[in-house]
Amino acid sequence: MSTIAKRANKIEVPDLMEGRGWHPLSWNDKEITQLPEYPNTEELQASFEELKALPPLITSWEIEALKEKLAKVSDGKAFLLQGGDCAETFDGCRSTKLVNLLKVMLQMSFIMIHEMGTEVVRVGRIAGQYAKPRSKDFEIVDGEKMLNYRGDLINSYKPNKEAREPDPQRLIEAYQKSALSLNFLRALADEGFADLQHPEQWELDFMHNNEFYKEYEQMVGSINNSIKFMETITPNNRFNTAHKVDLYTSHEALNLFYDSAQTRRVPRKQGWFNLSSHLVWLGNRTQQLDGAHVEYLTGIQNPVGIKVGPPFDIDNLLNLLDKINPSHEAGKIVLITRMGQENVEKNLPSFIRAVKQNGHPVVWSCDPMHGNTYATDNNVKTRNFNDIMKEIDLTFDVHRAEASYLGGVHLELTGDNVTECVGGANGLQEDGLSHNYETYCDPRLNYEQSLEMAFLIAKEWNQ
Ligand code: PEP
Ligand code: MN
Repeated sequence: MSTIAKRANKIEVPDLMEGRGWHPLSWNDKEITQLPEYPNTEELQASFEELKALPPLITSWEIEALKEKLAKVSDGKAFLLQGGDCAETFDGCRSTKLVNLLKVMLQMSFIMIHEMGTEVVRVGRIAGQYAKPRSKDFEIVDGEKMLNYRGDLINSYKPNKEAREPDPQRLIEAYQKSALSLNFLRALADEGFADLQHPEQWELDFMHNNEFYKEYEQMVGSINNSIKFMETITPNNRFNTAHKVDLYTSHEALNLFYDSAQTRRVPRKQGWFNLSSHLVWLGNRTQQLDGAHVEYLTGIQNPVGIKVGPPFDIDNLLNLLDKINPSHEAGKIVLITRMGQENVEKNLPSFIRAVKQNGHPVVWSCDPMHGNTYATDNNVKTRNFNDIMKEIDLTFDVHRAEASYLGGVHLELTGDNVTECVGGANGLQEDGLSHNYETYCDPRLNYEQSLEMAFLIAKEWNQ
């Protein structure tokens, strides 16, 4: 089974960068996994140049602000809530989806702030999460062998050979859809978002089947009272924190043509910034120390997430930390463990000890999704709410036992009423999955499951 380990199409490097150590395209000389070859390098070069000339999506100040907040998390003084689709799609760039995502992230963060008494840093898997690693290069549909779908940034989901070829025009469309998403999210977060905080927006009925329903109802009532109180004492105050919310963006740095075209220098600042996203992460399958993805990530100023999962190679992780964060800067690295609930107690303690011994200041976050995926008898990819919650609970337990701080969660979720994960108080069973199963990639928690999970995370926090 190949993972497409070879060199990517070669992009021309401007003379002034050549031979000067790291630059946004220095990865282009390295072996790369998980990125199929574009059929036409000239077209790729043209899209790359076009993308490189377009204005940035975000600013270096925002990146630095996020890094400061993450430094607080690594110090145990805040909590990170990262969430969103497994894979965004171009068609999914719609106002209702964006509103619903912001709404669920905001309500989850209110639950956490209220119940955990800590600041919450919100980061969406949004405005650029369009590229996917795959375990197989090809699939066969109706007898025809074609490249696997690798996210809208690379090829089309349509099951035909031509549509599955990597298309460089998608680099531009991903940028445009990210810009449209971000523009709307910023407007919502900046002004007029108060509507989403109001009592009638908190849908409670589904929690009836949860043993903690009474507690949950009281908590929502209390959050609503606090919001109303703030609005009463500071009416129309747009600097009121209840009116202005931050949602940072993130995506997997997988299609390096996309990320490097948007990696820029900023006047009066040292170094290079990936201005397509506040945070980018290194997936579990692209962690080769001499590979292209690691090379790219060693040169940017953004906070970087690193997935930690099977094959559980501690030495590789320590080497990654030394390479990506040699100065031990706080707020730079988020280690996102995704072990599978049955592996946490066995594998997590030694990672925590090794990182501590090496003196790296990191944010520890738990991705309870990717180690707990399974297929039903009807071959539907799903996850069980209880497995997801179990991985979170065990991860909290292990950190406590190691005198370490679990500072965040990383979830695949949506604000929509999809039926992709089973379980939770709404009692979704396997035979109900087909009702509203939308994802092209991994199954996500829906609105109700996400709120319930925020509540249970806060309960576990207070253990
Ligand atoms: C993901 O976050 O969607 C993903 C593919 O995760 P991982 O790299 O941990 O498998
Ligand atoms: Mn996923």
